[in-house]
Amino acid sequence: MASDSKSTVRYGGNTACVEVTCGEESILFDAGSGLRAAGDLIAKQARKRDAEGLDRKHLHLMFTHCHYDHISGLPFFAPFFDRNTKIDIWSGHLAGANKTRRMIENYMSSPYFPVGPEVFAASLTYRDFEAHDVLQPIENVVVKTLPLNHHDECIGYRVEFDNRSICYITDTTHILNEPDQGIIEFVKDTDLMIYDGTYTDAEFPAFWNFGHSTWEEGARISKVAGVKRYCVFHHRPSRSDNQLDKIAAQCKKKFPRSWIGREGLRIKV
Ligand SMILES: [Zn+2]
Ligand SMILES: [Zn+2]
Repeated sequence: MASDSKSTVRYGGNTACVEVTCGEESILFDAGSGLRAAGDLIAKQARKRDAEGLDRKHLHLMFTHCHYDHISGLPFFAPFFDRNTKIDIWSGHLAGANKTRRMIENYMSSPYFPVGPEVFAASLTYRDFEAHDVLQPIENVVVKTLPLNHHDECIGYRVEFDNRSICYITDTTHILNEPDQGIIEFVKDTDLMIYDGTYTDAEFPAFWNFGHSTWEEGARISKVAGVKRYCVFHHRPSRSDNQLDKIAAQCKKKFPRSWIGREGLRIKV
């Protein structure tokens, strides 16, 4: 999202972490600084399940890519320190054997971090896939994948469950006046698209090579692709609450069923 300061108390200052819940199960996307709070909540739910004699949930964490704002929360995820937890970690942006394991080991290593993933007590399974693969992490949940237009590669996701779908399309850029046909097809008729609205159209010419898009482009894609709900995500770090309020109002005019992503926002589809 943005960054933590007095001007971001309402929308929040954490970076990317999204939970998609499908019935009893859920999948976490990205391990930005928001993952720490998500982990505390999951740990609390796990203690409740233990008290009720229920089985623990098998957790899934899927990465779009590993830029710092999408991985910085990883070492602080409470379930990693619980030996009764099983977690599958998935990535496809590096497309190769053992890439997910190496991504985590490299991130948690000297001189960037004091300890490696061997400090985790949970049982971890590292899973690699390639863009365009169709995954089934949980029974009845299909996850489709798409390569996005971003530095160092990035994966977009479409989660399908019970005749509904949610698309998570962040860290992608666009070419002016050339709608991304791959994304339009991928998100077609989805119930919710979460989209990289880092910049405004007015700011975009100065940042065209930063690998991000604009909230207006997300609104245009939403219209063309028949998206039912649109959430503007990955706010520019300097964006204040007041600026986001203005964007929210402008975005509602272009696409009424739209939200500005904020800490703890829940959207039911
Ligand atoms: Zn990125
Ligand atoms: Zn990012």
